[in-house]
Amino acid sequence: MSSIIGIDLGTTNSAVGVWRDGQSVLIPNALGHVLTPSCVSIDDDGSVLTGRAAHDRVHTHPRLSTSSFKRYMGTDREVRLGSRTFRPEELSAFVLKSLKADAEAFLGAEVRDAVIAVPAYFSDAQRKATRIAGELAGLNVRRLINEPTAAALSYGVHLGDRESKFLIFDLGGGTFDVSVLDFFEGVMEVRASTGDNFLGGDDFTEALAQSLCRRNHLSMSTLSPTAAQRLNQLAERAKRQLTQNSGEAIAMTLTVEDKPYTMEIDAAEAERLFESLLQRLRKPVERALRDARIPVDSLDEIILVGGATRMPVVRKLVSKMFGRLPAVHLNPDEVVALGAAVQAGLVAQDAGLEELVLTDVAPYSLGIDTSVQVGQNDFVPGHFLPIIERNTIVPVSRVRRVFTVRDQQDVVIIRVFQGEARLTRDNVSLGEFRLEVPRKPAGQAGADVRFTYDVSGVLEVQATAIPDGGTRSIVIEENPGVLSPDEVRERMAALADIKIHPRERMENRALLARADRIYEELLGESRMFLANHIARFQALLERQDAQEIAHAHKELSSLLDSFDAQQTY
Ligand code: ADP
Ligand code: MG
Repeated sequence: MSSIIGIDLGTTNSAVGVWRDGQSVLIPNALGHVLTPSCVSIDDDGSVLTGRAAHDRVHTHPRLSTSSFKRYMGTDREVRLGSRTFRPEELSAFVLKSLKADAEAFLGAEVRDAVIAVPAYFSDAQRKATRIAGELAGLNVRRLINEPTAAALSYGVHLGDRESKFLIFDLGGGTFDVSVLDFFEGVMEVRASTGDNFLGGDDFTEALAQSLCRRNHLSMSTLSPTAAQRLNQLAERAKRQLTQNSGEAIAMTLTVEDKPYTMEIDAAEAERLFESLLQRLRKPVERALRDARIPVDSLDEIILVGGATRMPVVRKLVSKMFGRLPAVHLNPDEVVALGAAVQAGLVAQDAGLEELVLTDVAPYSLGIDTSVQVGQNDFVPGHFLPIIERNTIVPVSRVRRVFTVRDQQDVVIIRVFQGEARLTRDNVSLGEFRLEVPRKPAGQAGADVRFTYDVSGVLEVQATAIPDGGTRSIVIEENPGVLSPDEVRERMAALADIKIHPRERMENRALLARADRIYEELLGESRMFLANHIARFQALLERQDAQEIAHAHKELSSLLDSFDAQQTY
């Protein structure tokens, strides 16, 4: 019987596991890592790269590389890479394809079936898009599983025979998800799901970077792209060092135009620096418990998920908030894939765990485009005015009043958007219509805009002119971004002629991408020195002598390690 694989298709990192000999096993990628960065890049020869190599190229080749596309699943938003554009399902499919290839190399057999984890708050459209991504990758998606449910399975929560309630605290790279789950009589129910779509480990990195700049009177916005990227890497490394050691201060040095800018920071200072981010973690937790109507002390377990929960400051906050230690004996960035593999094992035995999905919240904020006043008669359009905020319990109806900005203005255009960004151009457009309003001095006419959102995801937007006048409305069905079966077939055919970078060459390709990235950061002598090494390595690759290549790989890799370790480039 062929195996079913379990996949964590993360915003920052993805992972794949399989159920074997009574336990979940994570599968390493071509580089031997169990985490594969969810990045896609088009290589110089037009082939698609994923994972580490693509991640390094996000910096060196921003126009050919992309990340965080999970945020756009279920929408029509396309990303241009070189001469082609890709839908979020297609980008996800590239990552899934590489995980599938890793699993096949590991298992020595073709893999066709998969269980894929999705955030508990994913809407129907986002779930459909995830299934389509699987299909595009040549996978038969047997099940989707909620990420918090998967995390719970990895901890064996389903093995107990009494009711249990627990909270999943998931802090990833750029997202924070809190879920309260209830396991009862073989069914896992998501009782509440809250979070912050724009808060994650990367914000802690950013805080460190900003602090270095502040202390050195450097303006972050004037740094060159390479210096900014170097600073980001420096901060990421510092953040991880703070996770590793508890005692001594760690040092960061950024060199800009031959001038070093340094900063030392110890755990206590870091905690102060992170204070406002840590504070932001509290609200969603409180809200999740309130929504689930479960008091803290009746929770059986707190489970940490997401790489950023490795940070001691985060663990400390969680312990303080709950008055006890969270479950941490598994790696937090691996538990979703481990749990997806548990579910895959259960599905293979026809015993898949049942889930009750929570669908009665609005997954995104919904609102309209407005102008913001910046001077006496000066208005800037393009600003998002949320009317129904995300995580509002549905059905819901809310109204906001908007005013004309010009004298004698006789029409307002109601443009409807979904998303969390401040500027509407960064959100997803759902539709628009015009409403005639009485001609009056600016600010004395306008419209009452009512949003009504129901359980099936249908949004009705109604605008009524003020002080008097007509009413117009539109109805927006959910799933603006779901491909039809015909479109899926079309996309599949189009993807068929895209070359995927061969897995067996991934290790060398990733090394070159890393070398390129470091080359861009170096200056002077060391730069030339590295360039020579890269050129020699490339020449060897062309000669295809496996032994020589392996030797040179080691050499170049330790050279790069030494540059990385010096941290002063
Ligand atoms: P996602 O669920 O968003 O795909 P992950 O769960 O893999 O992402 O989390 C990625 C985040 O975890 C990144 O911000 C990364 O910096 C952070 N992270 C990973 N390891 C550590 C560590 N040792 N110390 C601090 N942060 C870490
Ligand atoms: Mg995750």
